Order: sequence, then C-alpha cells, then structure tokens
Amino acid sequence: MIQTLQLVPEYKEELIYPAICKSMEALGIEKELQTDFKVVIKPNMVMAKSPDFPVTTHPLVVKCVARWLREHGVTNIILAESSGGLYNAEHMKNLYHVCGMKQLEPEVSLNMDFSAKTVNCPDGFANHSFHIITPIVEADYIINICKLKTHAMTGYSGGIKNLFGVIPGLEKPQLHYRWPEIEDFSRMLVELSQIVAPQLTVIDAIDAMEGNGPTGGTSHPLHMLLAAKDLYTQDYFAAGLMGLDPMKIVMIRQAMEKGLVKPEEMELKGDPIPDTLTSFKLPDTQKLDFTGTLPGFLKKPFLWIAGRLLKSYPQLDQKLCIGCGKCAESCPAHIIQIKNRKAVFKKKGCISCFCCQEMCPMKAISVKKAL
Ligand code: SF4
Ligand code: SF4
Repeated sequence: MIQTLQLVPEYKEELIYPAICKSMEALGIEKELQTDFKVVIKPNMVMAKSPDFPVTTHPLVVKCVARWLREHGVTNIILAESSGGLYNAEHMKNLYHVCGMKQLEPEVSLNMDFSAKTVNCPDGFANHSFHIITPIVEADYIINICKLKTHAMTGYSGGIKNLFGVIPGLEKPQLHYRWPEIEDFSRMLVELSQIVAPQLTVIDAIDAMEGNGPTGGTSHPLHMLLAAKDLYTQDYFAAGLMGLDPMKIVMIRQAMEKGLVKPEEMELKGDPIPDTLTSFKLPDTQKLDFTGTLPGFLKKPFLWIAGRLLKSYPQLDQKLCIGCGKCAESCPAHIIQIKNRKAVFKKKGCISCFCCQEMCPMKAISVKKAL
C-alpha cells in the first residue's frame, strides 16, 4: 500500500498543485482513469463555514485535484456532499457559496440532484442497506477529500468518517439514533465506507482541527497533504500523526479487526514526517482511560461504571445562542426545542451523539460530564 505525504506550507494553488501531481504519480492514478469517467469528489462540507477555518475541505485542494483530472482528459467532474442539516437546493447553494466551492464552476459541477438510492449491504452487521446520494452511487470513480480533525463522538475524523456525508441530510441523525453506542455507530461507518469504496482518499491537513471538532475546535496546522487508495491504513497513519493512539479510535480498530488496516504493508512516499509534530488536543467528550494499571479482568466492569459516571451531555451557553434551530433540526432524539429564540434541551433522552454541538454555528454548546 502506498501512502503519500507532501508538505504544503499554506493554501496556495502554486504550492498545492505540484503536491497533488506528485501524489497522483506515486499512486499511479492516471492508469486507473478513463477520460469518459464520471468522477465524483466527496469533500467535507459539514456546515456553512468559510475555508479560513479548519472545518471544511479547502476549495483550493478540490480545485487542484480537478485541475489534475482535466489535464488528464477527465471533464465530467462532480462535487457531491450531503452536509449536516437539510439536503436541498437552498441549503446546498448556501454551502457551496460559503465554503468557497462556488468558485470551482464551471470546471467542477456542483451537485444539484438531491435524490438518493438504496444500496444493499446484505452481510452488514449494522445495516442491510444504505440510502446513499445518487451521484455517489452513479460515479465511475470516487475521490474522497476529507479534512483532518478531532471529533467529539468518534475521537478522530478522516477518510472513513467523511463518507458519512453520503447519507442524505436528516437521515444521518436517524442513523445516530439507531446506533447510539460508539461500537455500533463505528461498525456502521466502516460498513458504509466499504460500500462506497472510494478509489482515492486525499486528506487536507494543511490546516487541521484539534479540540472540540468537527466544527467547534481550533486550528492545528500539519502543513501536509496525504493521499492513498487504502483509506483505512491511511486513517491509522493520520491518527498517529495527530498524536492519537489509532487503536483507541473505535472505527480504526474495527477496520483493523476486519483486516482492512495494514500498517506493516505501508510504504511512505514523498516528504519525510517532520520531527516537529505535536499532539492534538482532544475533544472535551473523550473519556480519560485510567485503566492502564488495572488487571485485564477488572477493566471491562470498571469502564462500564466509569462510562456511565463520565458520560458527556451537551450544555448550552444561553448568551451565545441565537435560536437558529440548527441543533433542534439535527437532534436524532428530538429533545431540543426553540423557545423565546433560545434552544431548550429536555433532560431525558439524550444519546450523547453531539450532532447539536457539531451543527451549532455559534459554539454555544459545550460538553458537561454527568459526574
Ligand atoms: S444552540 Fe446553537 S444551533 Fe442551537 S439554536 Fe442556539 S445557536 Fe442555534
Ligand atoms: S441533545 Fe445533542 S447530544 Fe443529545 S441526542 Fe440531541 S443532538 Fe445528540
């Protein structure tokens, strides 16, 4: 498995394009493409946020990938994403504009087909079928371009997690509600990524996010572009670059248990890993594991009790809340209402998925431990 790493000091086309060219060459992408292919690029556009913040895939990375494709004869290039929140023309037009993707037209077509198709997953543990946005289902070649971030629920967000955005709009909170436990939710994510099976995954880590990701954290630039065909081993590698233990990220551990993560087969091409990397701050939701010194047979019961005592819940800062309702719209448990232009959370029913925190544009929702 070839993993590329290119150092890119900042978001400038003249710096990103050569890095993309080197990555594509190292991975042999030209040999896999036909000029009549419909190539779908799946970015991270989780919310309407300017590319100045490390929340969404930077449009210059998409632009350089599309430029490389066009220079290799591919002209049918579609950008397709279902962000958090609604999946319709009004919502997506705003996202394309705010996230800086609008400027990519006409070289890249911005998807305006908001239909979805059912794709069977007969052997799935989690789901026996997925409802997936049509451009992804109809693509000849999928390029997954994600942003490297910490994540309140899953701990880490890279290639696998980015593919959750192929589920249309508010069907995503329904999956959160169906699989509230991290083990089940992660299993669903891995199965979904196997169904989507992108041919190439690029990680935008020129600027990345630490702390309360995927939307409320802060900048932690790695000045890197990563690319690989094997998104599972790449997620293992990228989590390590962030100073995370990849085996504590449930979706990566599960992918490894399925034989999808093969670090021993990884060959790194491009620039060397800088020796100046520092660890990313974790989201407030991530529980401390102080079981390291306990005998193995005590770990499970201890973690069961600690998991309940240390369970995290959303906490609202009334002063910051503008009553926009985005949290209520995305809450799978339907326990948030807007009253007098403020969000009101019911005490019971929270599944601690943090979709509300993820979608809040004002960073008005923080994390409170039960204890
Ligand atoms: S908490 Fe955030 S998302 Fe919810 S209504 Fe207030 S500002 Fe909007
Ligand atoms: S209140 Fe927030 S964390 Fe709780 S279920 Fe709703 S979206 Fe998830």
